[in-house]
Amino acid sequence: MALRLGIVGVGKIVRDQHLPALAASGDFDLVAAASRNATVEGLANFKTLEALLAEGPEVDAVALCMPPQVRFAAAMTAIAAGKHVLLEKPPGAGLSEVAILNEAAEAAGVTLFASWHSRHAAGVAEARRLLAERRVTGFAIAWKEDVRRWHPGQAWIWEPGGLGVFDSGINALSIATEILPGPLMLRASRLLFPANRHAPIAAELTFGGIPGTAVFDWRQTGPQIWDVAVETEEGPVLLTRGGSCLSVDGKLGEAMPDREYAGLYAHFAVLIARNESDADPRPLRLVADAFLLGERIEIDSFNE
Ligand code: NAP
Repeated sequence: MALRLGIVGVGKIVRDQHLPALAASGDFDLVAAASRNATVEGLANFKTLEALLAEGPEVDAVALCMPPQVRFAAAMTAIAAGKHVLLEKPPGAGLSEVAILNEAAEAAGVTLFASWHSRHAAGVAEARRLLAERRVTGFAIAWKEDVRRWHPGQAWIWEPGGLGVFDSGINALSIATEILPGPLMLRASRLLFPANRHAPIAAELTFGGIPGTAVFDWRQTGPQIWDVAVETEEGPVLLTRGGSCLSVDGKLGEAMPDREYAGLYAHFAVLIARNESDADPRPLRLVADAFLLGERIEIDSFNE
């Protein structure tokens, strides 16, 4: 029988990805939504998660899709009510939140899934399999997009805990930590902060362990770039288009259909069936290190 799901924080990603993925999912039956200003047609709608839990139809699980700064309190409320919890990425505004949620979920016997949608991009699993058999010598990440196009009007993203350019860059780090067959360690970072913002608009990272670099930039106009290039002694392994296109040893691959959120909900269902959690903090840990080690450079103000 399908698991009954409530969705919280109805914004861009819920409309773009969660609703279509859930409409096609045999694992979940979306029955309710909680959002202060938005509703989803055909569901029982509430202003808050608390109201949904108190007055709504029974749910087995909730997907928390509001900005990271307010997700911890909601996750604790859901866990205390005995609900399985899917967290949109990043799993929290800070690392300690994730650790505390993990402990709370384990004590309550519910599943906590800190989701990383980019790990479900079509080329990622095969890249991981290939790289496990190769000798990796280095990597280079380029994640460059136009913030005006992808994050219009999202004030929270520039506030403390909103991560700025790391909101999308963390997707690249979720792929890198998934496919590279060794630990990643941040050695240095340069962070470009617009004078009028609390979060960086661009960042350059240098890694040790496996030597590598990452360039994240939200000022990209023209072609949008979401690439992870890995060098191996056997030849290059290249993920482009956010992980949906895999090219191996110079042979260009084709972009495969987007199944990120279908894969994400399928994995959530498996975790619940197995009574397991999956809350890998490594991408957020690297972002935290980037802020800890970051050389801060102030640049001109950014206005939408
Ligand atoms: P969004 O468009 O701003 O939507 C988030 C929704 O959360 C808002 O519409 C708002 O709905 C609710 N919300 C905002 N502030 C809140 C607060 N203080 N308390 C309670 N609810 C609040 O953002 P989004 O792009 O959907 O992103 C949400 C999360 O998904 C982020 O963590 C982001 O990193 C992740 N994500 C986004 C994308 C993307 O391409 N946009 C892709 C993958 C993952 P109400 O006003 O109705 O409450």
